[in-house]
Amino acid sequence: MQIKRLRLTGFKSFVDPADLRIEPGLTGIVGPNGCGKSNLLEALRWVMGETSAKSLRGAGMEDVIFAGTATRPARDFAEVSVLADQPGDEELEVVRRIERGAGSAYRINGRDVRAKDVGLAFADAATGAHSPALVSQGRIGAIIAAKPAERRAMLEEAAGIAGLHVRRKDAEQKLRATEANLTRLDEVIGDQE
Ligand code: ATP
Repeated sequence: MQIKRLRLTGFKSFVDPADLRIEPGLTGIVGPNGCGKSNLLEALRWVMGETSAKSLRGAGMEDVIFAGTATRPARDFAEVSVLADQPGDEELEVVRRIERGAGSAYRINGRDVRAKDVGLAFADAATGAHSPALVSQGRIGAIIAAKPAERRAMLEEAAGIAGLHVRRKDAEQKLRATEANLTRLDEVIGDQE
């Protein structure tokens, strides 16, 4: 999958519609402190389904909506769209929109979809909001300073096996429930004998 364009409207500091075109080759974004470089990477993670407001430097998810300045009123919604080429398939356009008080809605190529569908569309291309390829500010320092257990979690995420822990927890819970049922069954059988 190759990302070709990111379009932002009302997302953080990008109050007016803005297009970022990513042409073949290296794309660099330069600008003074606070001009919105990190907001662009956050917009990409957000449209791919990021659910943690904290990791987008906000207290709540609505904090991604343009909050207003001395000269411009706040907006009621934010929208980000990402357009990507998929080898051997049609172009993929994913849109995420958030409205104050109404939460997020997603579209894939014009169709309303669930957040889960967006996650799967990017997971199929081995990317997504938590892809280790997206390196936020301070992340390198965090890796260097991480405790061994935290570093192991990062490596497991990079290796794509983080999901196995969730499944293992589920399996252990089912095992415990089954053991409890077997004990209860033994008691019932014992009562009847
Ligand atoms: P640096 O080079 O210092 O890392 P940067 O170019 O990465 O800066 P960002 O951190 O992306 O800049 O942008 C920060 C700017 O975005 C700040 O000016 C902040 O006020 C603005 N901003 C963040 N959220 C919102 C919002 N919801 N509404 C309006 N502006 C916002």
